[in-house]
Amino acid sequence: MDTTNSFSKKISRRDALKLGSIAAMATTATMVSPQKTIAKPVEEKKDSYNVSKHGTIDEIYNIDPKMQRFDQANSAFCKSILGDFGVIPLKPNDNPNMKNAFMNVVFATGGYNPISQEFNPHLKAQKPGHSDLDLALDTGALALENMTGSALARVLANESGPAMPLADGSLLPISLYKQQVPFPGQFNKYEKQHKFESPKDAAYAIKKAAKLYGADLVGIAPFEERWLYKSEVYLPMDVNGNPIKEHVNPFRQVKFDFKPKSVIVLGFEMDYEAYKTQPSAIGAAATSMGYSQMMETSVRLAYMIRRLGYNTVHAGNAVGISVPLAIQAGLGESSRMGLLVTEEYGPRVRIAKVYTDLDIELDKPKTFGVKEFCEICQKCADACPSEAISKAVKTTDPENKPKNDCNGKGVDKWYNDHQKCMSFWGENWGECAVCISVCPYNKIDMWHHDAAKSVTKIPGLRRLARTFDEIFGYGKAGSEKLMKAYWNRRI
Ligand code: SF4
Ligand code: SF4
Repeated sequence: MDTTNSFSKKISRRDALKLGSIAAMATTATMVSPQKTIAKPVEEKKDSYNVSKHGTIDEIYNIDPKMQRFDQANSAFCKSILGDFGVIPLKPNDNPNMKNAFMNVVFATGGYNPISQEFNPHLKAQKPGHSDLDLALDTGALALENMTGSALARVLANESGPAMPLADGSLLPISLYKQQVPFPGQFNKYEKQHKFESPKDAAYAIKKAAKLYGADLVGIAPFEERWLYKSEVYLPMDVNGNPIKEHVNPFRQVKFDFKPKSVIVLGFEMDYEAYKTQPSAIGAAATSMGYSQMMETSVRLAYMIRRLGYNTVHAGNAVGISVPLAIQAGLGESSRMGLLVTEEYGPRVRIAKVYTDLDIELDKPKTFGVKEFCEICQKCADACPSEAISKAVKTTDPENKPKNDCNGKGVDKWYNDHQKCMSFWGENWGECAVCISVCPYNKIDMWHHDAAKSVTKIPGLRRLARTFDEIFGYGKAGSEKLMKAYWNRRI
């Protein structure tokens, strides 16, 4: 393991700023324990310099009250897979086993399909970042996600992922089949409800548990129908990862068997060193770790809440759109690249969520200048190999128009061409995420990174911030040298 990451985490941002030459620029609530048995109350992190709190997401972004809910089938990722079902044809593929190039990614990710891999030119050449060792790293990282298909679907709900058709026409997830469904009814909610002293106490306990279960960030948003998918994709796959066509339904209604009140939003940091190698299978392994962690932690939290007598639905990217929920839960802001930018890890996070009817205190959205900095920065747009990211200065500029129906409409944001992005993934035989790796907010806590990030919060100095990032040599997209360096670094 590279020790840079863990060492740097020991230096708090505040301490680091004291060390930095711009300390002058950058400038408690103590959590109340609901349990007398918790001897030492946990100190909540103070908001850092120049952070504003807001009542709702609508106070930050212009959101059309008539906004239509988004169909999951229109997400670029789903559209790309569903290309095989005639929903959207992408570029033809060299691989005769696949109808569109994007399927290279589905089968290259995790590197588990040897038939598809025969056609992978990077693998044939054992290119740095795409070698057997690199793909194997991704295979291990994705193992838990692969068992549940949680990237696209509700987790462990017999809803998607690897599946086995049964005699009655229903489908059993392979992971459950192999484990023989250990305890029937294990996932049912407990009949006796635990009563917390207050919603604040409930929030404290749930956040404490979420951290124990592996979340790096946790916040709570109100349940709002507008952020639910209008319809969700049902995409069971066979053991070889091929969708079981007769069971695929790209437009299934999103339904709950209870009335959700809130959404617990979980954030997971992805490895900084691995992300520096993007676009590579090493970087993809960091993403895959995020997906496996999304599954693990959301499932654990859902089990806990059901044991307390409340309903849950837990999901990775499924059920609803994650970014607005994460913003409403106070985890961060939206950005030019369309991803959540957190104060702690920038865009280098994955998001999972647990919908529940537990009465729980909600968090407030916060801003720390991301939108204003994105108007000046544009590093992601300059570095994007498929030119998918908008270069409009402001979201209100006339050229910033929806590109295709992969774009959700009615929200003040930059419109990017996700189809171009997915096409590059197909050509690259793997993921990309160069946009995340070059973003100045992506950096780990070290004094010079902190200094650069702090400058993004100061209106008059924002133009300097991008330059600052360049001066320190960070933010360049992955090179073969960096890919080789990943394995040569001491653990
Ligand atoms: S993932 Fe790569 S291709 Fe897609 S938007 Fe980001 S930089 Fe561009
Ligand atoms: S790279 Fe720059 S423009 Fe792109 S999201 Fe990050 S801060 Fe915004």
